[in-house]
Amino acid sequence: MNLHKCILTNNDCYRAGRTITPKGVMVHSTGANNPRLSRYVAPNDGLLGEPSLRHWNQSGVGACPHAFIGKLADGSVATYQTLPWTMRGWHCGTGTSGISANNTHISFEICEDGLTDASYFQAVYREAVELTAYLCKEYGLDPLADGVVICHAEGYQRGIASNHADVLHWFPKFGKSMDDFRADLARTMEGDETVTYEQWLEYMTRYRQELAQQEAAMPGLLADAKAMGLTDGSRPRDLVTREEAAIMARAAANR
Ligand SMILES: [Zn+2]
Repeated sequence: MNLHKCILTNNDCYRAGRTITPKGVMVHSTGANNPRLSRYVAPNDGLLGEPSLRHWNQSGVGACPHAFIGKLADGSVATYQTLPWTMRGWHCGTGTSGISANNTHISFEICEDGLTDASYFQAVYREAVELTAYLCKEYGLDPLADGVVICHAEGYQRGIASNHADVLHWFPKFGKSMDDFRADLARTMEGDETVTYEQWLEYMTRYRQELAQQEAAMPGLLADAKAMGLTDGSRPRDLVTREEAAIMARAAANR
């Protein structure tokens, strides 16, 4: 993930200063053909480029997510955090149940392009998966639990967000559903589990013990080799060291 930070401190949402305890992540896309982060995120940090006059770091915008994913001035894809993650965002309105996911969900907007560029989609999709994985880890969220990771359209269906189609008007064009997104997210989170050297050593020792306990796969030939004095025949399926190989070669040469 190419994560940067530019908190939109002049946005009325930031100034409202309310906080939430995150219970989920809501995925949005902007619904406007403009993949540039500088349309929304300001000021220019040298990477974003000159902002649009209608950027969101000013009063009167009426909306603010926690992050945007889109293009830098050089055309590469990045993620910008735009609110503290535990601040209450303005991203999904109120649903038919009278409940708003603004009170529970961290949100990000993916800047839409013309919705036909597969390489842009792949790049922002990957970035969205990695951002959501990061947030789920940070706040102990289960990515596959019901209602935790949802898009705006799913929020509407659940009665906790206003009536918008994002991202289900875009992701399926490139063969991705929100179930795919959640599955990709869960895989990413599993893949991030790191093994320490000590754990690896423990696994390696256990692996060698398991190998050493296995019966010979070619017992007749092994018995011959043992009779010829080439090997003591122990641990037939274990790994061989250079030392053992040299001693076996020496025994063969001396016959
Ligand atoms: Zn939305």
